[in-house]
This record gives sequence, structure tokens and C-alpha cells, in this order.
Amino acid sequence: MKKLKWVICDCCEGNGKVENPAFSNGFTSSEWHDMHDDEQASYMAGDYDVECQDCKGLGRVQVPNVAAMTFAEKRLLVVERRESREEARLDAEIDAELAAERHFGC
Ligand SMILES: [Zn+2]
Repeated sequence: MKKLKWVICDCCEGNGKVENPAFSNGFTSSEWHDMHDDEQASYMAGDYDVECQDCKGLGRVQVPNVAAMTFAEKRLLVVERRESREEARLDAEIDAELAAERHFGC
């Protein structure tokens, strides 16, 4: 089993692109009506989308495959994660793995 796995990027949901931050508040209806038809069409077609920063446009991100890691690697990962204060979800997954291993006496 590989120690890294790919998951669909949460930020862009696998598209590799996100809506341009400049448009994140959307348009008012009057702004929308002021746009030319071709501008509206471009917007709807995603021409103004920008590369997703989280996945660098890949649409997927590489994450540690907790299930494939050794106990020592998981411990290290926990420390790294706590230091970076990232992804509470992954911490919970690791904790569950460690708890399961303790349960089986590994
Ligand atoms: Zn992304």
C-alpha cells in the first residue's frame, strides 16, 4: 500500500479551477445586466475561473495514507499535524487508527 494517497481537492471539488476571487461576492443584478452577452457567456462557461491554489490546478491533493503507515510514522504525523494545526479530521482518523492498534495490542 502506498503511504500517500490522492483525494479530490475540497477547495475546487476536483475541477482544478475555482471562480475568480474577484467575483466571489457575485454580481448585483444591475451589474449583471450591464455586462455584454458574450461577457455573461464567458462567465457562465468558467472563462474567468482561476487555478485552484490548494491543488495547483490538479483537482486532487496528496495526503498521507494513514492506514499504510507504521506506528512510528503515524506518531510523527500526529506531531507534525499538531504543529501545523491542520486538518482536525485527519488527526481524528490517525487517533482512531492508533486506538484500534492499541486495542489489538500492536
Ligand atoms: Zn483544488
